[in-house]
Amino acid sequence: MAFPDFPFPSEWNSFLSHQQVLRYLQDYACHFDLYKFIQFNSSISSVRPLIGKDSQKPVWEVVVTDADTIKELQQVLLFDAVIVCNGHFAVPRLPVIPHLESFPGLVMHSHNYRHPEVFQGKHLVIFGSGPSGVDICLDVANCAEKVYFSHKNTFCSKLPENVEQHRPIMSICMDGTVMFEDGQERKVDSILLCTGYMISFPFLHDDCSIMVRNNRVTHLYKHIFNTKYPTLSFIGLCAKKFCTFPRFSLQAQYIASVLSGRKSLPSEGQMNADEEQDFQERLSLGMPEHHAHIIGTRGDYDGIIAQLAGVDRLSPVYHSLFNYVREERFPYHLMHYKKDNFRVNSDGTWSLVKNLTP
Ligand SMILES: Cc1cc2nc3c(=O)[nH]c(=O)nc-3n(C[C@H](O)[C@H](O)[C@H](O)COP(=O)(O)OP(=O)(O)OC[C@H]3O[C@@H](n4cnc5c(N)ncnc54)[C@H](O)[C@@H]3O)c2cc1C
Repeated sequence: MAFPDFPFPSEWNSFLSHQQVLRYLQDYACHFDLYKFIQFNSSISSVRPLIGKDSQKPVWEVVVTDADTIKELQQVLLFDAVIVCNGHFAVPRLPVIPHLESFPGLVMHSHNYRHPEVFQGKHLVIFGSGPSGVDICLDVANCAEKVYFSHKNTFCSKLPENVEQHRPIMSICMDGTVMFEDGQERKVDSILLCTGYMISFPFLHDDCSIMVRNNRVTHLYKHIFNTKYPTLSFIGLCAKKFCTFPRFSLQAQYIASVLSGRKSLPSEGQMNADEEQDFQERLSLGMPEHHAHIIGTRGDYDGIIAQLAGVDRLSPVYHSLFNYVREERFPYHLMHYKKDNFRVNSDGTWSLVKNLTP
C-alpha cells in the first residue's frame, strides 16, 4: 500500500510487480524533488558518535566509500543526525539442521533465488513458508518435478499438483534423503532455505550503543530512536506483517518532528523502561526473542507513533484491508489471491472490485 501522500496510479492492479514498486519510488522522488538530496553509489562503511559538550547530541562521523571502487574516494563527513534505513532482507538467516553441511546437492537461500529454471526437473525441498517460501514454492513448481514444501504452518489452500506439504525438516542424510518431523522421508536434489533474514548493522561503531542479538536490536525507543543518542534513529525495523510504506512514513514523520524540535522525547531512563515493557509484553504473549520488532497490526503502534509525532493517524483502511487479505484470502487461496483487486472508497472503506480467486 502506498505512502499516504502519494497514491499508486489508479490503473495499476492492487498487487504490484517489483518493477512497479521501483517505478513508484522513482516517481515519488521526482514528484517531491528529492533526487537533489541523494548521493547515489555511496556505501556507508562506518558511523560513529563523536562526543562533545552535549553528550546526548554527539556529532556523527560517517565514512562513505564509492560503492564500485570500495576504498577509493573515501569521504569522512560530519552530521548532526543519522537515520539508518539499510533494510533487513539482505543477510540470510540459516537454520540449524543436523547434517545440512553433508547434503550432496544444491543448498540455496531464498536471497539467491532468481529463476525457477535452475530447478528444472528436480526434486527439491522448500524449507519455510513466509512470503518468500510461498512465492518461490509456486514459482518453482512450474519447473521442478516435485516440490516438498516443509514448514510449521497449516495451509488449507489448493497448491500445484506436484507440491507436497510436510512438517519441518528434522535431519538430512549424506545420500540426499531428507527426514521430516512428520516421520516421512524423501530423496531430493536440492534444498531451498526460505528461512528469513538477520538484522545487521555492520557499519555501526560499538560506541553507537546499539546491540543486535538474535534479531533483537536493543536501546531503541518505539523501535525508532536510540535511547542513549536519539539523534541516531532507525526506519523500517518493524517492516514485517504490515504494509511497509505507510508505517515507514509515520516513523519518518516522528523522526522529523523530534529532529526539528517540534516534539521532544522522554528521558533515556523512561525510554529504556518503555522498551523493556514492550519486550516483556511480547514474551508474555509467547513471542520468541527474534520477533522483538514484529508488530504486524497488533495493538495501536501506528496510532501511537502518529500521536507522538503530532501528525494524522493512518486511515483505518490500511489495517482493515491488510488483515482481510492476510487472514481471509492469503491462507485459503495461495495460488490466486494476488489476482484480487481492491478499491479504496472516498469514505475510507474498501471494496473488492475484481475477485478472481475461486
Ligand atoms: C522477496 C521479497 C519480497 C517482498 N515483497 C514485499 C511486498 O510484496 N510488499 C511489501 O510491503 N514488502 C515486501 N517486501 C519487503 C520490502 O521489500 C521491505 O520491507 C522494504 O524494501 C524495506 O525498505 P527499506 O527502505 O527499509 O529497505 P530496502 O528496500 O532493503 O533498502 C535498503 C537500502 O539500503 C542500502 N544499504 C544497505 N546498507 C548500506 C550501506 N552500508 N551503505 C549504503 N547503503 C546501504 C541498500 O543497498 C538498499 O538500497 C519484500 C521483500 C523481499 C525480500
